[in-house]
Amino acid sequence: MGNVTEDHTFAVDRLPRAGETRLARSHRTELGGKGLNQALILARADIATRLVAPIGRDAPGRAARAMVAAEIPGATLIETDAPTDRSIITVAEGGENSILSTAAAARSMTPAAAVAALADLSPGDTVLLQGNLTRPTTRSVLELARARRAATVANPSPIEWDWTPLWPLLDLVFVNAPELAHLSGARDTTGGCRALLDLGLRELVVTLGADGALAASREGTVSVSAIAVEPVDTAGAGDTFCGAYLAATLRGRSPEAALGIAASAAALTVGRPGTHGAFPDRTELSACFG
Ligand code: ATP
Repeated sequence: MGNVTEDHTFAVDRLPRAGETRLARSHRTELGGKGLNQALILARADIATRLVAPIGRDAPGRAARAMVAAEIPGATLIETDAPTDRSIITVAEGGENSILSTAAAARSMTPAAAVAALADLSPGDTVLLQGNLTRPTTRSVLELARARRAATVANPSPIEWDWTPLWPLLDLVFVNAPELAHLSGARDTTGGCRALLDLGLRELVVTLGADGALAASREGTVSVSAIAVEPVDTAGAGDTFCGAYLAATLRGRSPEAALGIAASAAALTVGRPGTHGAFPDRTELSACFG
């Protein structure tokens, strides 16, 4: 459950500084949003996926409906009065990016609407959330999932509110290194993982960009190096990693194996321009699973 956006990606030689206007080398429009991106990877990895997401009654909303009909047939797109959310993505040479998003549509999803959309949630299902919904809606969905004995997973990005009370409701969380520092207050990755696990979280996956990723739980920590690739556009790398890791664990792979599969999938996204346009397709994802 999460957001759908219309992404406007501007390619620049370097990211603009505060107060600076720069010319972009190119502009591209495509659908995105962490909710849609992660669901897309799960669906392409042959996981039975049902995306629940709010969209506006506008052209991007209609485009999202057409796209998910083809790629994620189980999706429930809920029309809201707010326009479909938008993101401005700026990508510099070397792949570094900055992202600015609206979240009016995502934030219009009430706890009652979210719970109603998940009426058939059952034991053995897994709920995946990101940071775009409001805290009350996120909490209600996690409590419903716990009551139904469904697994709970979150990628709390963008971090807009305090997740601390929700850690005990989560089985698995994905963060990047700056997010881990922000959420834990710790100065290093080991300390950050320990702090969140001590607060009741069961498993934590930390992505480290070109330095790879690690999975930490009370049983210990395993890590993987990133695949060597010339970075073209890192936008969506985290979503690819998250979707592929979760798909791998749902298919019974160990955390160590899931890290390797996710690093291979994310490297494909990093090495090509765009977000959805750069994502691995079904054949490529199948190859990542070996
Ligand atoms: P984004 O917000 O840009 O989608 P993120 O900050 O959530 O990304 P990262 O930690 O930057 O996530 O990247 C996720 C994964 O993508 C990494 O763990 C790694 O496997 C892969 N990756 C990212 N950058 C590179 C790179 N330069 N070379 C190879 N792999 C990379």
